[in-house]
Amino acid sequence: MQTVTLNTGAPMPILGFGVFQIDDAATERAVTDALAAGYRLIDTAAAYRNEAAVGRAIAASGIPREELFITTKLWVQDPGEDNTLRAFDASAELLGLEYLDLYLIHQPFGDYYAQWRAMQQLHHEGRARAIGVSNFPADRLVDLIVHNEITPAVNQIETHPFLQQTAYQARMADLGVQIQSWGPFAEGRNNLFTDPTLTAVAEQHGRTVAQVVLRWLTQRGVVVIPKSVRPERMVENLDVLDFALNEDQMARIAALDLGVSQFFDHRDPDMVRALGSRRIG
Ligand code: NDP
Repeated sequence: MQTVTLNTGAPMPILGFGVFQIDDAATERAVTDALAAGYRLIDTAAAYRNEAAVGRAIAASGIPREELFITTKLWVQDPGEDNTLRAFDASAELLGLEYLDLYLIHQPFGDYYAQWRAMQQLHHEGRARAIGVSNFPADRLVDLIVHNEITPAVNQIETHPFLQQTAYQARMADLGVQIQSWGPFAEGRNNLFTDPTLTAVAEQHGRTVAQVVLRWLTQRGVVVIPKSVRPERMVENLDVLDFALNEDQMARIAALDLGVSQFFDHRDPDMVRALGSRRIG
């Protein structure tokens, strides 16, 4: 598996498996299938409420721990350093892991400076091999960097053909922050899977639209974590690193950028309130 090198010096697979919106009952099966297909990066979150199922699948797989790259995320409701450390312990226990490869602040809301100080401690203790953030806009990311010791290794943000994040990716690269795409298919919104441009490029390569999207992202150096509960799609989504899009194809896909979220704006005050007050049990 091709990797990117994080600012910690550690390698991170450029392609992994996401488990958002897979309920606890289905997650063990899905992660078992994904590991069998060859995925080694698994992306979950406390807020997905399926960490225990991910942990069961990891344990049953027998894959050596050092071959896996496991990410989970800290929810907004755990502000302050002590709560953050407790939340980490709870996630690690559910996952059955001594350490995480990547621990992310899930949302740029609430007391995330205190969360970050605790995460820096977890990193120094070796329990979080890398620490990072998710959904951070540029101003909050830079402010976090300026006022803290450790620069986030990763910022996981919505990135797909309709929200390409090209300028932000370049800025993050200058800062030493790896971009990771969530929602690489925009969950199929805006008719992504039947988009005429993506379909035409896919036909030129004898590939599927999903494969072209994942190739386009990884070719740009974006880490991807597509989600599927179907084993045949897991295989399809993993099989994207042995062909290359040419300049013309990259340019045609670049022209699809709408520059707006297909989901919601993390800076919308109503959304800030809704996500900020969400409790995950
Ligand atoms: P994706 O863009 O990965 O889309 C998933 C959807 O696409 C599912 O409906 C899936 O259906 C379908 N699909 C998958 N593969 C194919 C294929 N080859 N052909 C056709 N359809 C396909 O959405 P996600 O929101 O799940 O994003 C991926 C991951 O990113 C998440 O699982 C999560 O780990 C992370 N994430 C993080 C967020 C954050 O705030 N940090 C927010 C959202 C996601 P099916 O399962 O039936 O195959």
